[in-house]
Amino acid sequence: MPKIIFKIDKNQDAKNWQRVTNMVNLPHGLINVKNNQKKIKNFSAEEMKRLEKNKQRLEKYFKKNGSVIFLSIEKLTKKPIYTNTFHVSFTTAGLMPYDISDSWFMIPAEKSTKKQITVIIHELYHLQVAHYYMKYCLMKGLSQKQFSELNEIVTFILTVSMLHKLNLPKDKSYPKHKKLIKELQRFWIKDKNFEKLLDKSISTIKLSNL
Ligand SMILES: [Zn+2]
Repeated sequence: MPKIIFKIDKNQDAKNWQRVTNMVNLPHGLINVKNNQKKIKNFSAEEMKRLEKNKQRLEKYFKKNGSVIFLSIEKLTKKPIYTNTFHVSFTTAGLMPYDISDSWFMIPAEKSTKKQITVIIHELYHLQVAHYYMKYCLMKGLSQKQFSELNEIVTFILTVSMLHKLNLPKDKSYPKHKKLIKELQRFWIKDKNFEKLLDKSISTIKLSNL
């Protein structure tokens, strides 16, 4: 089973705040713009203690449930998990970036463990989709930005196919994607075929303003 390595790293959090503040070349889009105004925090000694416990809870959860989760992602994307190791850092900022080249992503430090798990599944799925299907989508004519939008949009299948079974909070979608997701949901329910969903998403995005 692939491993998830969690790291509590003040520097990574500070770097993420820099991303949010500069808002340039964001790899992943802003999740919560209103948080931009929040003062940059450093993890206090107390916060470090809390996060350490939080980290242990997540490690325990994935030790127990990781294989079910990874298997579900494999089933949904029709591909084996592409790497043996994922790296995760905590952030107090409202932006959750991911980096395909390092199999790395950030999760919200201040959310409940259950919400964090939903974010982890969301990000694992992003990386898996990017690894196997980004080239295909670009070849089919999507821009890099449109591919990022597609990768956000197709996460809707996590809620219906996986999160509810695990008793986890729903995956959040961006308001600007709501209409497209509704349309694609109707399509997905018919035969739950990921490749078909991708093709449909590509053509839908091309016709949209995204
Ligand atoms: Zn996302």
